[in-house]
Amino acid sequence: MTRSGASRSRVYADNAATTRLSPLAYERMLPFLCEEYGNPSQPYSFSRSSRRALRQAREAIAACIGADPDEIAFTSGGTESDNWAIKGFALADASPKRLVTSVIEHHAVLESCAAMARLGHEVVHVPVDGAGRIGCDAVKSAARGSGNALVSCMFANNEIGTVQPIAELCAVAHDAGALFHTDAVQAVGHVPMDVHALGVDFLSASGHKFNGPRGIGFLYIRKGAALSPYVSGGAQESGRRAGTENVAGAVGMAAALEENCSRFQENARQLEGLERVLLEGLGRRGVAYQRNGTDWLPGLLSLSFPGASGEMLLHRLDLMGISISTGSACDGAKAQVSHVLRAIGLGEEWAGGTVRISLGRDNTVDDVRRIADGIANVLKA
Ligand code: PLP
Repeated sequence: MTRSGASRSRVYADNAATTRLSPLAYERMLPFLCEEYGNPSQPYSFSRSSRRALRQAREAIAACIGADPDEIAFTSGGTESDNWAIKGFALADASPKRLVTSVIEHHAVLESCAAMARLGHEVVHVPVDGAGRIGCDAVKSAARGSGNALVSCMFANNEIGTVQPIAELCAVAHDAGALFHTDAVQAVGHVPMDVHALGVDFLSASGHKFNGPRGIGFLYIRKGAALSPYVSGGAQESGRRAGTENVAGAVGMAAALEENCSRFQENARQLEGLERVLLEGLGRRGVAYQRNGTDWLPGLLSLSFPGASGEMLLHRLDLMGISISTGSACDGAKAQVSHVLRAIGLGEEWAGGTVRISLGRDNTVDDVRRIADGIANVLKA
């Protein structure tokens, strides 16, 4: 993997955390950082090109996910999009709401729901099976009979990579009279999707997860779906999200998304090939492991090594110039098993020895051989 910011020998395998900015996106952003800096809301001619660029970015993003341009609202990223969908639904009018979500959601969803519970709204968490799949029956019974509910199920899990049956979950929610939001932060730009065909009401995405810039994302809001404005104080984003627009960010995000969407199959084939090399490398070195999840996002591997320490592996690999992530969040001195690994019922012996390796389009066969050798050398030492 050739990297300009990091040393050439570093292996970056934490693409679920963030990705390298696409050179094409960078190039497209430059004019809007330095020369074309007119505020898109101003009526004079100097602002025309930034206004046009914002419109074109919105149109390009909409086309990539099968939406209409006015259904795309720019945000600062996935966290804001999730907060807006949950809180904007709950606070759209004064009536009490029911929020149905899964136990493996990102904290941006879980904590937004918790904030709404503190205001008196009802929150129901549905379980997942051992592979991290959300069951349609569980969603159906949790959403049934409320009349005023939002179901929020992530498109793909950020720790174990399980892709959910979103069209089915959405249909079940609608049958029960609920609206449906999906946190698609890990999936947009990595798997094809068409929001109108899926039927979702709200969808969250984040630019830096698909080789776009950090600090920009979007929320898809289906035409007619009730959602209260998130940020007040201006008419931007059709009065729904105030604040001077991040034109360069929107332009870069659109370029990166178009680029990724033009090569879904090629990317997936490359990443699946790299996964195979990695797993074969571990097998050849006699390393015992379990891969968590199912129906994975291309390139995302959650691997558990029995009796090992994921934290220790991360740090030892870091010393070898390899960046991966653990499957547990560190809480002070005590490593805690993540809510996702707990939800899929992973025993202590396996959960503590879990790492997440998330490959991206820049990774090479040499990278994954180095990861497999690095893990084998640490565990077999
Ligand atoms: N949702 C999921 C599933 C994620 O993986 C992340 C980031 O890791 C987020 C939301 C938050 O996105 P952002 O970093 O753009 O705020």
